[in-house]
Amino acid sequence: MTNIGRPAEGQNQWYPFMDRPAPSMVDGFLQNPPVVPVHDFDPLPPAARYVVVGAGIHGLSTAYHLAMELERTGKGAGSDVVLIDKAGPGAGATGLACGCVRNFYMTGPLHAILRASVEVWESDPINLGFQQVGYVSIGEANQTEDYVRLNESQVANGYPSDLYTDADAHRFLKELWPDFKTENCDVVLHEHRSGYAGTHMVMWGLDQKARQWGVQRCYGVAVVGYDLDSSGSVTAVKTTAGEIRCDEVVVGAGAWTPQHWEWLGGPSTLDVHYPDGHVDRGMDVWTYWRLLEGEIFMPPGVDYRTADGKDGPVLHVELMDTPVYGSDGEVIQDYVYTYTRYAAERVGAPGLQGGTIPIRMGPDARTDPYGHLNDDYQADDWFPEYYCRTLGMLFERFENLEPYYKQRRNGGIGAFTPDNVPIFDHLVDNAFVIADSNHGFKMIGVGKLTASMLVHGNKPEELRPFTYGRYAAGDTFGDRNSNCPWV
Ligand SMILES: Cc1cc2nc3c(=O)[nH]c(=O)nc-3n(C[C@H](O)[C@H](O)[C@H](O)COP(=O)(O)OP(=O)(O)OC[C@H]3O[C@@H](n4cnc5c(N)ncnc54)[C@H](O)[C@@H]3O)c2cc1C
Repeated sequence: MTNIGRPAEGQNQWYPFMDRPAPSMVDGFLQNPPVVPVHDFDPLPPAARYVVVGAGIHGLSTAYHLAMELERTGKGAGSDVVLIDKAGPGAGATGLACGCVRNFYMTGPLHAILRASVEVWESDPINLGFQQVGYVSIGEANQTEDYVRLNESQVANGYPSDLYTDADAHRFLKELWPDFKTENCDVVLHEHRSGYAGTHMVMWGLDQKARQWGVQRCYGVAVVGYDLDSSGSVTAVKTTAGEIRCDEVVVGAGAWTPQHWEWLGGPSTLDVHYPDGHVDRGMDVWTYWRLLEGEIFMPPGVDYRTADGKDGPVLHVELMDTPVYGSDGEVIQDYVYTYTRYAAERVGAPGLQGGTIPIRMGPDARTDPYGHLNDDYQADDWFPEYYCRTLGMLFERFENLEPYYKQRRNGGIGAFTPDNVPIFDHLVDNAFVIADSNHGFKMIGVGKLTASMLVHGNKPEELRPFTYGRYAAGDTFGDRNSNCPWV
C-alpha cells in the first residue's frame, strides 16, 4: 500500500467511504481503488461460458443481468458468468462520474437506449442510488428546432418530456425556482423520468446483485491480452492470474477500451463515411477527452430545492452566444455550458456537482493512474471560477459561490468514438464491446440488452444502430447543434 495520506479534516479527497482501501502500487502505477469495499470475491476459474471484463457500470450491469437471465430461463447458472476487474467496482469512470441520468441527445436512436436504461434505474432506485428528480435543459433560440425534434422523439420513445419556449419557458423556470434569471433562456425541455444516481451507491448495489445471482467476481485480476484462433475468435482471456478459456467475452473497459480493442485485433484508424457522402479519411478510432468537473458546498441557508420544496431537477444549460465573465471583468469563456445536480452524497455535505464541456486531447493518454490520482488530467485552474459564475448567472441564490468551491481533485478522461456516439457491437464473433464514448453512466440498460442478446441470440432493436460498421457504411452519426461532444 502507498501512503498518500488521509484527507484533511472536513474534506474527503479520496474516501467518500472511509473504509475504501488506499491505492496500491502495481508495476509502478498507483491503482485507482474500487469505490466500495469488496468482499467475497472469487479466484479465477480455468474456464467459463461468459467472461465479462470491467466492473464499471456496463460490466457489472451485464454480469448481473446475464446471471439473472440464465437462472430465470433455466439456460444456465449465474456462476457461468465470470467478471474480471484489475481493481474492483467503480475503479474507472463510473466511480467518479457526475451521475446525471438524462435523455437529452440530438442522436435520436439513443432515446430508446435511455428508455431501456431508465427502466433499469427505476427497477430498484434504492439499491441503485437513483433519484428521479427530472432533468431541465435550457438553450437559446438557435436550439429551438433541435429541442422540438428531441421532444417529439422522446415522447415517441416512451420517455415523456415537456417543451416550453419564450414566455412559457420563463414562466416554467420561475415557477420551479422563483430566483431563476431567465435572460437568454429561450427554450426549455423538462424530462420527467431523468435524474441522477449516486455513483458509489450504484456500484455497491450492482456488485451485490451480481454476487447474489452467483456471478464469479474476480477482482484484483488484470487482463493482459486475448488468445485468438485462426478465425479471430477469442478462445481464452489472458490475465495476471493465468488464462481463462471461454465461449463469449463482453468488454466494458471504459477509458482502457482502446487497449482491449487492439488486443482483439481492432484497427487504430479508419475512414469515416457520413450520410451526406463526405468521408473523413484515416481518422483515429479512439480520441481521449478530459473532463472538467467540480463540487461546491452549499452556502449556509442556501439549498437547491424548488419552490414547492422538492429536490431540484438536474440542470443543463447551453447558451452558445452568452459569455461568462470573471470577477475581474475578463471573459473566461464566450459561452455558457454548465450542468449541475444536487450531490450531498458525493460532496459529503449539502452541495452541488457539475461541469462543463470536456477538452479534446487526441489518440494517446496515460490511463494509469486513472482519474483523481492522475496529476495530468485534473480540471483546469479557470474551471472553478467559471463553474461558480455560470450558476451565479442563473440563480440569485448562487451569486457568491466561489468561497464554497470544494478544493479537491476532479475530472477524469474517456475514450471517445469518431462520432462521439457509442459503439455496442461484436468486434470479433464472440467478443462484444460496450464502448459508450464516455457518456454512458446513464446507460445502465445496455448491460441488460447485452445479456438478453447473449441468452436469447437476437440483438435487441435498441442496440442495433450502434454498430462499428456504420462508419464504413455511411451511417456515421454526429449531426448535433451543440458545442459538447456528448449531446
Ligand atoms: C468525470 C466524469 C464525469 C462523468 N459524468 C457522467 C454523467 O454525469 N452521466 C453519464 O451518463 N456519464 C458520465 N460520465 C461517463 C461515464 O462515467 C462513463 O462513460 C462510464 O462510467 C463508463 O463505464 P464503463 O463500465 O464502460 O467503464 P469504467 O467505469 O471505466 O470501468 C472500466 C473498468 O474496467 C477495468 N479494466 C480496464 N482494463 C482492465 C484490464 N486490462 N483488466 C481488468 N480490468 C480492467 C477498470 O479497472 C474499470 O473498473 C462521466 C465520466 C467522467 C470521467
